[in-house]
Amino acid sequence: TEKPQRKPKWIRAQSQARPEVQRIKGILREQKLHTVCEEASCPNLGECFAHGTATFMIMGDICTRRCPFCDVAHGRPEALDADEPRHLAETIQALGLKYVVITSVDRDDLRDGGAGHFVDCIREVRSLNPGMKIEILVPDFRGRMDRALEIMQQAPPDVFNHNLETVPRLYREARPGADYAWSLELLRQFREQHPGVPTKSGLMLGLGETREELLEVLQDLRDHGCDMLTLGQYLQPSRHHLPVTRFLSPEEFDELGDRAREMGFKQVASGPMVRSSYHADLQAQGLETA
Ligand code: SF4
Ligand code: SF4
Repeated sequence: TEKPQRKPKWIRAQSQARPEVQRIKGILREQKLHTVCEEASCPNLGECFAHGTATFMIMGDICTRRCPFCDVAHGRPEALDADEPRHLAETIQALGLKYVVITSVDRDDLRDGGAGHFVDCIREVRSLNPGMKIEILVPDFRGRMDRALEIMQQAPPDVFNHNLETVPRLYREARPGADYAWSLELLRQFREQHPGVPTKSGLMLGLGETREELLEVLQDLRDHGCDMLTLGQYLQPSRHHLPVTRFLSPEEFDELGDRAREMGFKQVASGPMVRSSYHADLQAQGLETA
């Protein structure tokens, strides 16, 4: 019987008790919108909400895939809600957010993988919130890439994010249904079609990857034109999820971040508590002033 690894002292959660956080949570309940921040019990929630950033999960909270590191429910998804783009836009306005990340579960049941709904959301959010920065964090659109990319040309985001999550050797175990080469290709093709829109990807560390494997992935990302990178510690959502093989120290994250910058990433966030959307606003700013 495996003993769960004890969390080191640098893994800590922010207080969620701030009034601003409670206000945002209240509005989200009313509008029936899901945020990854809440669903994934993200340890940065208090900090992000207080800074005007949140990650919205569109197209429901039930995923057609079942990645054993992920806390999202699995099953038969609901039908798309045609009012969701407008609700999302109004909520973002009411919350006074400055930078939003829009993401979704995998919708392998939809013919366009949900690309059309992403575009509708971007359009609505922009029209009600001029100047708003929008990052989309998309699924891999496996089997539907051409169609999805074509649709997304109608309303490209400010940042295009697609996470590789882990090294290719661990895909079968950690990302069943996904394909490493496919994910890289999605990043490359988007980049090619939108040279002005930065692309971004991220990995969770502590799933069993080696340093060499990780550096190879970072090189692959650079070779596919990826500009921005996030590296964070994988945390096991429950004992039914993949175990953490290792907690990397903050120094190790710093060092990996330096390596990534040397490899040519324009913006890197690397640290135990870094998530794909952690300080997404600051990351994007860094890119503009770089
Ligand atoms: Fe939400 Fe991302 Fe911030 Fe976590 S890091 S609270 S998911 S915006
Ligand atoms: Fe979670 Fe994404 Fe995997 Fe679905 S595809 S189970 S949302 S990581």
